[in-house]
Amino acid sequence: MENSKGVTYKPGDMIYKSKPYVRVIRQDLWDKVCGYCLKDYMKLKRCGSCQKIKYCGKICQKAAWNDHKLECPFLPGYVNEPNQLLIHLTGNLILKIKGKDWKSITENVAGKVVSFDDLASHATEMNTPWNEFVIKNTQQCLERYIGKDNVPDEETLLAIVRKVACNNFTFGGENPVIRALFIGASKFDHSCVPNAKHEFPGEHD
Ligand SMILES: [Zn+2]
Ligand SMILES: [Zn+2]
Repeated sequence: MENSKGVTYKPGDMIYKSKPYVRVIRQDLWDKVCGYCLKDYMKLKRCGSCQKIKYCGKICQKAAWNDHKLECPFLPGYVNEPNQLLIHLTGNLILKIKGKDWKSITENVAGKVVSFDDLASHATEMNTPWNEFVIKNTQQCLERYIGKDNVPDEETLLAIVRKVACNNFTFGGENPVIRALFIGASKFDHSCVPNAKHEFPGEHD
């Protein structure tokens, strides 16, 4: 397989490696795996503030704090929604991009700068009554999660929900363990005849 720059890949080669901009763990695993490295330990310590997410030790807790501090105040009242991973991911994303210029959230991928603003949203294809229903429902779930004051106006929310819907990755098969949004990796589009796949090797690898 050859990419647009004439680089040839062999089976098993890694094309791109990236860290997620936001990622969330399935709720039934919150007290079973470390909230950062995702490893399954016998002894995990709860976050003292929310009492919801657990960590294998101080190193992981510290590494996770930059992102976890945003969701931490909202997790004690967290209600499990049917679309839990998607609501949790969208809520955390909203908290993380609050007050930021979407063009300033960037990642360099294969020599090209990609921003959150650039992520595809397929606005025309997604403008159906069914999607309007999904967005209304998402709005209500998000209000329960991060509070009405943190949920942006309908037009902004619509743009965020569409970007999340088109670009998020899941890991862990049919009942995903995590759902994540990447900035750079979103440049790799869906294919009906894929010749590459995505994998999650863990936070420390
Ligand atoms: Zn850990
Ligand atoms: Zn916490």
